[in-house]
Amino acid sequence: VLARIRDDLGSSDPTVMEISHRGAAFDRIAGRTEELLRSLLAVPDDFAVLFVQGGATAQFAAAPLNLVPDRGTADHVVTGAWSARAAAEASRFCRVSIVADNAPGRRTIPDPGTWRTDPAASYLAIAMNETIDGVEFGSVPDAGGVPIVCDASSTLMSRPVDVSSFGVLYGGTQKNLGIAGLTVVLVRRSLLGRSGREVPAVLDWAALEASSSRLNTPPTFTWYVTGLVLEWIEGEGGLAEMARRSRARMESLYSAIDASSLYTNDVDPACRSWTNVPFRVGDGSRDDAFLAGAAEAGLVGLRGHRSVGGMRASLYNAMPQDGVDELIAYMADFEAARA
Ligand code: PMP
Repeated sequence: VLARIRDDLGSSDPTVMEISHRGAAFDRIAGRTEELLRSLLAVPDDFAVLFVQGGATAQFAAAPLNLVPDRGTADHVVTGAWSARAAAEASRFCRVSIVADNAPGRRTIPDPGTWRTDPAASYLAIAMNETIDGVEFGSVPDAGGVPIVCDASSTLMSRPVDVSSFGVLYGGTQKNLGIAGLTVVLVRRSLLGRSGREVPAVLDWAALEASSSRLNTPPTFTWYVTGLVLEWIEGEGGLAEMARRSRARMESLYSAIDASSLYTNDVDPACRSWTNVPFRVGDGSRDDAFLAGAAEAGLVGLRGHRSVGGMRASLYNAMPQDGVDELIAYMADFEAARA
């Protein structure tokens, strides 16, 4: 297997999978990855940058365990499927107050003025972008001094954000940062050890920080790929350029949807996601035909999440504008053929 991997990589040097995660060679990879992430995202010095395992899902539990003391409370805003999952998981480890909730199927962000927040809560949890529902915060809400814990799984490194407006910001690498296996967690250092509780070591932000995210064996290859993606982002012009491309992709697709009489996107226009564009094809009766024709045209991965149906186009960093243009052209052909 190693020979085959070396062959595929075109080199007989030891691959990143073969070296020690505590050796100097991997130290350089890890150091460079953190340095790039810090500079591209302008991460303030008072934030720890952690590379951890367990996905964003593990952070749903890590947040209450690290931040909420015994008998404390966490405020959660529910804007879709993922923030609902985060609230459910947190409620296993602390008291959770749902300060705002979207009625099922109502794709918007409840007005922050109506949120029933608690100034004594240990944190306020939000999902920056709901990957399944296509609902995204246009700006960071005012949490009145309570640290915001933000699940940025589907938007991290796709455009600039003001890291200092959060207490914690996290997201998996599998969307905009390469491949599955690693989660980036940015934590304001003053929050490390905040709960005073026993925390399982692999979820303990302070312990992870103290061990340079190498408390145990990390997924070295994923880490290496993340570093390469960050280098690519830097070479392409950084997050300003990623944002420009992201905006162009989503504007072209929403314009096509809005101009058509067959396709609809039912998200409140003020909260439309830049990265995940859910849409319906008429009444849904021609979904299979739409997907079959799309696959023939080389357009795959368009079926919406099983919980919501319809279609979804995910427009992550790796998606070129050409891919979006091809989708738009196919959508127009499909609509014209059935007019
Ligand atoms: N939050 C959001 C917004 C997501 O999109 C996802 C994954 N699609 C998750 C959390 C869960 O992430 P993971 O599978 O890495 O645990």
